[in-house]
Amino acid sequence: MQIADTIAAISSAVGPSPRGIVRVSGPDALPVADSLFHADDGAPLAGRNGYTRWPGVVRLADDGPFVPGEAYVFRTPKSFTRQDVVELHTVGGAAVLSLVLDRALASGARPAEPGEFTLRAFLAGAIDLTRAEGIAAVISAKSDGQLRAAGRLARGALSQRTAGLLDRVADLLALVEADIDFAEEPIDFISPADARATIVAILDDIADLLATGEQTERTETLIRVVLTGRPNAGKSTLLNRLSGLDRAICSPLAGTTRDVLTAPLRLPRHEVILIDGAGVGAADDEISLRAEQLIEREIAAADLVCQVVDITRTSPVEAAMSDRTLCVANKVDQLSTEQASDRCEALRSATGLDVLPVSAVTGEGCDALLSAMDHRLAAASNIVSAQEVSLSSRHRQALAETQNSMARAEALAAGAADTTDCAELLAFELREACAGLGQITGEVTTEDLLGRVFSRFCIGK
Ligand code: GDP
Repeated sequence: MQIADTIAAISSAVGPSPRGIVRVSGPDALPVADSLFHADDGAPLAGRNGYTRWPGVVRLADDGPFVPGEAYVFRTPKSFTRQDVVELHTVGGAAVLSLVLDRALASGARPAEPGEFTLRAFLAGAIDLTRAEGIAAVISAKSDGQLRAAGRLARGALSQRTAGLLDRVADLLALVEADIDFAEEPIDFISPADARATIVAILDDIADLLATGEQTERTETLIRVVLTGRPNAGKSTLLNRLSGLDRAICSPLAGTTRDVLTAPLRLPRHEVILIDGAGVGAADDEISLRAEQLIEREIAAADLVCQVVDITRTSPVEAAMSDRTLCVANKVDQLSTEQASDRCEALRSATGLDVLPVSAVTGEGCDALLSAMDHRLAAASNIVSAQEVSLSSRHRQALAETQNSMARAEALAAGAADTTDCAELLAFELREACAGLGQITGEVTTEDLLGRVFSRFCIGK
């Protein structure tokens, strides 16, 4: 981990846009920027104050073309990374930005690793590890509910709760250590019963945190919507219609779809991945059976399941699988309006599900289906956002380790007549508990841990 170098990266998203950003951080950030940026007032950036913005031009080659740009200057220690930072804002084309980056690299900066700007902020003590993870989660959030949960992590909701727990364990540890230091004295600084009561209260709070915490890993994966139903219900046609892609091969031959097919889909408030699999319930050979197993796994992991039914047929439908299910009555173009609404009504009372009449072929009802999906997902993500904090598996593991130490501490306190009897062992377990909690905020870190956290970032953040 070299933090004395000057690093540079494109910090804006890829793709053409009115504005793109190349960010430089490190001791030579200003001289590096000066080698390619010329402010309108003619003076170099190196002598300027932080929190200032300078209009000028960015040179793409020594005597070659230049583009208009602005330099944002942040001076150490009052910057995100706590180092000197220059952000060069210019036009957002990929070719322009990579030329700007190349010139910064030619002037002595090195390419930043994924998440390295945030890593520097962490190493400088500007943010703790949970906040850094929150930044990554904000960037990868795919829905407003996920964004709220990630935002809470980035603002320090988990660090505050962890710090509170850590304080209480440390206070208890101080009393137990006092008992060790003054073992000759006839009094206990804390009685075993009081120590035990404190430990139990802390254990309760950890259990509570684990029970209410939402999985942050979910924010890194797209929301999954699965189309399921009997062969020939029209799932593949619907996938193509909804996604606007020509992904699935549709055919009147039952069982045409064998692989799990996916297509991205943008709903008003969610970005989802639409999944179409083999029809369920018609497997008669090895491959079909395997295809059915695949789609069943997808259904189990889905955020929303759309049960597609061919409304022209009167075949029995499976009852509601869960509150994650919507029923799509497909092929309404084949029926009269009256017939269609009668059958949908029958389906509604048979399944207890919301039934959405659509035609994958004509597109009728598809907009209503998309808003119903969006609505359902928003309702589900409100459940997520009502949770207090989001927890990654890393956080869960550290909390579980803390729980184990605290449970051993409780057993020690329960079995002791006076604190001095078990003080050494008790202090050991409490120190272990502190270390477990310290892992969450990053007070106790290893290079491996940092590698795991920061490799999940994109370059430039
Ligand atoms: P899957 O097995 O559920 O994926 O079904 P497909 O999408 O392959 O469709 C099976 C057959 O039904 C194809 O011949 C489609 O053209 C037809 N089909 C699908 N949706 C509709 C629809 O809304 N209306 C009509 N009339 N035919 C449809």
